[in-house]
Amino acid sequence: MALINEHYLKLTKNYLFADIAKKVNAFKATHPKANVVSLGIGDVTQPLCPAVVEAMHKAVDDMSRKETFHGYGPEQGYMFLRKAIAENDFLPRGIHIDPSEIFINDGAKSDTGNIGEIVRWDNSIGVTDPIYPVYIDSNVMCGRAGTLDGGRWSNVTYMPCREDNNFVPQIPDHRVDMIYLCYPNNPTGTTISREELRKWVNYALKNDTIIFYDAAYEAYIQDPDIPHSIYEIKGARKVAVEFHSYSKTAGFTGVRCGYTVVPKELTAASMDGKERYPLNEMWLRRQSTKFNGTSYISQRAAEAIYTPEGKAQVKAVIDYYMGNARQMKDALTSLGLKVYGGENAPYLWVKTPDGVDSWTFFEQMLYGAQVVCTPGVGFGPSGEGFVRLTSFGDRNDCAEALHRISQWLSK
Ligand SMILES: *Cc1c(COP(=O)(O)O)cnc(C)c1O
Repeated sequence: MALINEHYLKLTKNYLFADIAKKVNAFKATHPKANVVSLGIGDVTQPLCPAVVEAMHKAVDDMSRKETFHGYGPEQGYMFLRKAIAENDFLPRGIHIDPSEIFINDGAKSDTGNIGEIVRWDNSIGVTDPIYPVYIDSNVMCGRAGTLDGGRWSNVTYMPCREDNNFVPQIPDHRVDMIYLCYPNNPTGTTISREELRKWVNYALKNDTIIFYDAAYEAYIQDPDIPHSIYEIKGARKVAVEFHSYSKTAGFTGVRCGYTVVPKELTAASMDGKERYPLNEMWLRRQSTKFNGTSYISQRAAEAIYTPEGKAQVKAVIDYYMGNARQMKDALTSLGLKVYGGENAPYLWVKTPDGVDSWTFFEQMLYGAQVVCTPGVGFGPSGEGFVRLTSFGDRNDCAEALHRISQWLSK
């Protein structure tokens, strides 16, 4: 008799985006002439930049000729891309990452979800709240999160990020084995300072904690003082795995490419605490067994991001989205709303007026302005009383949405 993995039965159904779609469809059915604009979308909208498209065309041509055809590539990724990453994403910041510490993947979601396989199922975990749901759900699947109890998992330490702590999570007062951090943050759009990040690295060094650092939005950082990588902090190579993605950096959500850094110094203990094992070797072993590499075409596309043209073109698209974010933040603030984020991230975290709950505000704005947002409570209990807006839309759609919100709120 085949038995299922009963931990899957504990997963709460992810109703968030399905519920949003249902409510939007209900509105459209009763208001057939309304033109609904979405600021809730978590996907990019602008096309790939020309340097990337050219590289992909060339890679397809390579695949069409016997002499330049590529079959299976190295599981860890092609050296041309791993070298470009080390030389462009890390060296200019004074960080020395060897290509053997870089693992090319098909996007950050897979690796943030899979990395937990190389550590014991009964390690404790800590997450910021609100949070990208993958960090918790992937731990539920192997039983590590424990049991759900009043909306919280029994083996998870929640670190609230709220207005009253300026969205800076408090370091736990007890030992946690694994901690997930995401900066710039999805969904709050807030960042972490070098000083705060140093506290986390020191906590991890002291408590023998692994930090899983999701840097998917680092390319959106505008302020030169904000760290782009946890390895900018001394000692981080001993305690942190870092995830990068080209999805938000260069519009690769449909191309699929990213990478994970597992430094050679990062180790975890054996059960009796007597031995230390390097996670780099374990992750390589895991990937070689379960992953056969990202496509050659996607890796050539990613390489093109590091050419002078690619860098300029990618920056132009990010500037476009951040221009949206600026306009949104200015307009909403001048309407009297309290808006966080949006300065170093494509997300705005908007406090609902008069203590209205997230879902009520979502409906009010849908019916009042025909604009869709994402209810903050969908990202965790501390998201209640907020909604998330994204700046990934077209400039004209953003302007139209702001115009309508302004008319609606001034009624
Ligand atoms: C979008 C996103 C990613 C990237 O996912 P991909 O699988 O690379 O497309 C990773 N982490 C967070 C927090 C995200 O929002």
